[in-house]
Amino acid sequence: MLNIEEIQNIFQQVREKISCPKCGYRYSFFDTQLIRSSGNVYFLRLTCQKHHPVIVSVVFVSTKSMKKYDEKITPNQLLDGYKKIKSAKNLKQLLK
Ligand SMILES: [Zn+2]
Repeated sequence: MLNIEEIQNIFQQVREKISCPKCGYRYSFFDTQLIRSSGNVYFLRLTCQKHHPVIVSVVFVSTKSMKKYDEKITPNQLLDGYKKIKSAKNLKQLLK
C-alpha cells in the first residue's frame, strides 16, 4: 500500500504530464481524484471544469526498486576515468 507521500507524488506527476485533451486545461490538485486501485495500478479521474472528466490509469513502481537505476555517472567521473586510462602505462597500474 502506498503512503500519502507516494500518492501525492503520483497526483503531482499526472497533473504535470496530463492536461484536458479538449482545451489543454491543467488539472489542479482539487480536480484530481483517486477512484480506485488494484495492486499497483491506480485509476485517477481528472476533471476539467468545461469538459468530460478523463480517467487515467497509473502503474506505480516503488521508488525503492527504482533507486538502482537512478545512479547517474557525472561528466567529472567520466573525465576522471578517461584521464586514469590515458595516464596509466599498463593494465596493472590502471587496476591498482
Ligand atoms: Zn477541458
